[in-house]
Parts: sequence; C-alpha cells; structure tokens
Amino acid sequence: MSEKQKLNSIETDVVVIGSGGAGLPAATAALEGGARVVIVEKRGVTGGNAPFANGIFACESPLQRKLMVDVSKDEVYKKAVEWYHYDWINPRLLRAYINKTGDTIQWLMNKGVEFEIGPDAAMSPNQLPTWHIAKKDDPNQMSRFAPVMRKLHKECEEKGAQILLKTECKKILQEEDGRVYGVMVAGEDGVEYKIKATCVIMATGGFMGRKDLLKKYFPFYEEDFFGFYVPNMGDGLSLAEEAGAALEDHATLVRETCHSSDAMKEHFLTAAAREPNTMWVNKLGRRFVEETSGRNLQIGTNAVLSQPGKKCFTLYDDALVQEIVDYGYLVPRYPNKDENKEFKTNLQEVATRKEWVIQSDNWDEIAEWIGCDAETLKASVEEYNAFCAQGYDETFVKDRRYLRPLLKPPFYAIKFGVMVVETCGPVRVSEKLEVLNKEYQPIPGYYSAGVIASGWQGHDCNGEHLFGSELGFSINSGRIAGENAAKYALSKEAK
Ligand SMILES: Cc1cc2nc3c(=O)[nH]c(=O)nc-3n(C[C@H](O)[C@H](O)[C@H](O)COP(=O)(O)OP(=O)(O)OC[C@H]3O[C@@H](n4cnc5c(N)ncnc54)[C@H](O)[C@@H]3O)c2cc1C
Repeated sequence: MSEKQKLNSIETDVVVIGSGGAGLPAATAALEGGARVVIVEKRGVTGGNAPFANGIFACESPLQRKLMVDVSKDEVYKKAVEWYHYDWINPRLLRAYINKTGDTIQWLMNKGVEFEIGPDAAMSPNQLPTWHIAKKDDPNQMSRFAPVMRKLHKECEEKGAQILLKTECKKILQEEDGRVYGVMVAGEDGVEYKIKATCVIMATGGFMGRKDLLKKYFPFYEEDFFGFYVPNMGDGLSLAEEAGAALEDHATLVRETCHSSDAMKEHFLTAAAREPNTMWVNKLGRRFVEETSGRNLQIGTNAVLSQPGKKCFTLYDDALVQEIVDYGYLVPRYPNKDENKEFKTNLQEVATRKEWVIQSDNWDEIAEWIGCDAETLKASVEEYNAFCAQGYDETFVKDRRYLRPLLKPPFYAIKFGVMVVETCGPVRVSEKLEVLNKEYQPIPGYYSAGVIASGWQGHDCNGEHLFGSELGFSINSGRIAGENAAKYALSKEAK
C-alpha cells in the first residue's frame, strides 16, 4: 500500500483543521473526551499565531483565588455586554466563553503551564486583573505562549492524534442532507485525498493575509499598517460558505495603538510613542486626543484612525527623555530597566535616520519633518505648555498627573500609527461552537473555533474587560468545540 493509499484510508472521529490557538486545544479536548483525532495543518509547524502571544483573559481562575483577586464571571459578562451595546454579540456564546475561562487556566496548569498576573499585565487604565500571562521558561524568550503550544502538541501526539503537517484542507465533505462526513485535503505534493470523520472542527484562524478581504470588511484599512503575524489566508471563509454556513456581513479588526517602525527591531519605540506624559499631534501639527489614550487600545487607535494620513507624532523634550532613562516608562508593559537606561542613546540613534524619529533644538525643523505648518505646531506646543503650567487641559481634560511641558531642547518627535494583529469572524456559530447555516440551524458534525468564529467581538475589540481574548477565546472555544465534537462523534445520533 502506498503512502497515499494509506492516507486515503484514514478514518477518524474528529478531524481538526488548523493547529493554532484553537486547533490544538480543540484536539486535546476531543482526545480527552475519548475521540480519535486527526489534525490537518497547512504549515510545516503547529501553533499558528499562538506562539507570539503572551497572555489570555480569564476570570474566577485558581490563580485569582490564590491572590484574592475577585473578578466574577457575572460581573465581567455584564460589563462586557454593556460595553458592546449588544452590537454583533451572541450573548450565549460570550457567556459560554467567559464561564469557561477560569477552568481553562486550571486545565493548562494541570498540564504544567504556570501563569502570573501582575502589574505588568495592565494595558488599559483601571483594567481588571484578568490577563493571565504564561511564565517564561527562559528569560530570553520573546513571547510566552510558544512553550504552551509545544506542550499541547506533545500531549496530542502522546494521546494518539495523527498530526499531518503541510496538509491543507480543501473542502468539507457532506452527505446530501448536509451532515459532515470528513474533509478533502492536499499534501505537499498537491495531490488531494479524503479523510473520513464524523466531526470536523474548523480552526483556520483569521484573514490577515488577504488584503482584498481586509479592505472589504474594514474600509479604513491601509496597506501600510504595521503588523507581525502568521498571515492566515481566510481559508475557513470559503470552506464554510461552500458547506452552507452563514457568514456574518461584519468582522472585527484587532488593532493596537502606536506601533512605530519595525515592531520587533525597534520595540522600544512602541512604549515611547504610547508614553502618557508626552504630547501628541497629527499631521496638521494639532493635538487631537488626550494622550493617556495611548494606553487604551480602542480610544487611542480610533483617534489615530480619524487623523489625516492615519499617522501621528509623539513629542518629547529632553527632560522627559531623561526621566525615562532614570525612572522608566509609565507604560507598565515594558518595564525592562536596561531598555530604559538606553532610551536616550537608542532614540538619538534612530533619529539620525530621520525616518521614524527626529531630534532638533527648534520646532521649525520638526514641523518641516512632520510636514505641517510651523506656526501651527508652535501654537499647539505653547497652548499645551500653558495647560501644563495651570494644571488643567482646557481642550481634552487630560489627567493633570500626566501634564508635562515641553521646554528643554533638544526636542524629539516619534512618528506612529496603527498596528493590526488579528481579524475576528465572520463564521456564525452557536454557544456550542456548532457552525450554523443561514436559518441559524447547526450543520451536523461541523464545528468551528478560534478567531474565525463570530459573535464574541463587536465593532471594537473589548480590551477593557476582556483583554487577551483573541487567544483567550481561541483556547476556550477550541476546548468547547473539542468536548462537544467528541460527545457528538461518540453518540448514537452520529452513528
Ligand atoms: C504578535 C502577536 C501577539 C499576540 N499576542 C496575543 C496575546 O498576548 N493575547 C491574545 O489573546 N492574543 C494574542 N495574539 C492573537 C492570538 O495569537 C491569535 O488570535 C490566536 O492564535 C488565534 O488562534 P486561531 O487558532 O484562531 O488561529 P491561528 O493561531 O492563527 O491558527 C490557525 C492555523 O490554521 C492553519 N490553517 C489555515 N488554513 C488552513 C487550511 N486550509 N488547512 C489546514 N490548516 C490551515 C494555519 O496555518 C494556522 O496554523 C497575538 C498575535 C500576534 C500576531
């Protein structure tokens, strides 16, 4: 029997398409539920975008209990729904997700993952302590979830899952009545073959690699937005549509404020651009928002998106630069002391290129670099300095603690824009992660998990109450889909 013929004879209970943030947890949960599992992954490695992530949302977790942090599921659910105004939300799905999160932390801890919740975990002002960051195995490790995904991969193998790498799902196979009976896949050589399965869990991620879809769902999208991710091609959208699933007419673009330049190479510029003690101006040389918004993913990003050219500028004077060298950024996520010490030299070095940063003793030169009218910029700085002196921002009511005048040359301007991270939606699912058709009925045997699913994000992603929900939702929805798929596959109903 040839290798291909062997593959053609694969028969399983659950086939999982995609091995990322949702796929590996879905496979693990289905295996734990007693099902036989095959994982089909297009790339040569498992993990998808999850290895880049640092932390996930959870409430009522064992860690929170230990730290006496009281964030209840009910409270978070109510706050989140209110924040979304029910906009695009499937409340049953949102509830199922939030309810599962604490248990998922325990589930991962049982597999040897260690978590921490600390002050470094806060991104938005007054954020609830819900961001569970995985502890680093190695201090030089860049992001924290890579070892977690490796653990899940290993567990899938140990529990007997067959993992087919460089294998792309091309089609969901269905009986005439719509019931799913497997998938058509293609290996590296492009030859297509069938995998028979009672259930399919589609966890193919978003569509960050598809500029046409990004422009269709997000008319404000610009090709020069910063980004660093595995560019999934939205395969799940066509797979789902062909299988009769309903696609919502909307999706959410997860975005962050203020990534400047190469997000990884000159990482410090992100923290520097978001620093709340600074002054922000747009391309016209005018202030447009109160600057602590840099720490709020939604307000900051939406404010920048409304400005001409969708690029803005963070202004520093030398006193503020020196303060960071001495005491560190206020942005709590980047508390690396060594990075602080080198802030001035790093900034001055980048400024020599005049690409992302400029340094000058006079505002005329800075205005010319920004491309704005010098008098307008100088008037903006003068007005801001006057607000600082009186301790009251008459225009945008910025918290007085962050009002710092720009007085001591040299002055610096950092250009910043918007970083895009992920898309969410548009496949319609139930709270059991069943894929729904246009009549809101489940397609038997068909499940979908991870960011491709709709109903858990609104126009804006909720970083205020649910920070860490892209991977958080992926892992939890993966678990829910895996549990339900295993139950269904082993039930009489499916036979
Ligand atoms: C730099 C960065 C930092 C992040 N930090 C965080 C964070 O701290 N917290 C957080 O919550 N989220 C974070 N995220 C987002 C999070 O990592 C993703 O949203 C999450 O991994 C999505 O999981 P997923 O399974 O839906 O998709 P993915 O993890 O992208 O996995 C999808 C998988 O499906 C495979 N696939 C696609 N099509 C097919 C096909 N036709 N056949 C077979 N396989 C296919 C892909 O190759 C991929 O492996 C971050 C993302 C990035 C890029």
